[in-house]
Amino acid sequence: MNEFEKLAEQFRAFPGVGRRQAERFAHFIIRQKADSVEALASLLLMTKKSAHFCTLCGRLVFSTTEENLCSICASPHRDSSLLMIIEKDADLNHIERSGVYNGLYFVLGGVLPMRSEGAESNVRISELEQRLKDATDDFKEVILALSLTPEGEFTSSFLLKKLSDIRSGKNVIPITVLGRGLSVGSELEYSDRETLRHALESRRRTT
Ligand SMILES: [Zn+2]
Repeated sequence: MNEFEKLAEQFRAFPGVGRRQAERFAHFIIRQKADSVEALASLLLMTKKSAHFCTLCGRLVFSTTEENLCSICASPHRDSSLLMIIEKDADLNHIERSGVYNGLYFVLGGVLPMRSEGAESNVRISELEQRLKDATDDFKEVILALSLTPEGEFTSSFLLKKLSDIRSGKNVIPITVLGRGLSVGSELEYSDRETLRHALESRRRTT
């Protein structure tokens, strides 16, 4: 395999990129000036080196310092009695842009596949349990804000069962789900500000 083929092979490993597109990317790189390619190579490395996950919420953050917490988890201005469980970083960013919520988050990292019940895959269930256990006295409410897709709903009911131990006992943490407004089958990431605000205001207790 020559260098061109090796490069195309690397691009082919990208999500959604086929062989022909990978070769077009490789051709594009070859046509660039050497210093542009050098800048791209060092940017790739810098991005990789500065990327890490917030130790509290699991959100992807970019920082060249050894900072472990993201700006939201570290902020004294957030309502630390609320924990919203969302599926992915894009949902978090979307809710932040809408400005309708001022609590903390937990990024689940995905939803559970419906076909293999019990398989927790790379969804951060045990990390979530640990987060709640570590801060039982701090949270007054946990808000499940997963998408209203079949997998999202499946994951929500799985979490309700799973977290029942944690909220039972002395410190009961009420778990709520987003209320009316969100359309069935839609992903949270694509709902508008008013819909989000309405869904948040009309959230309901599950117990
Ligand atoms: Zn965080």
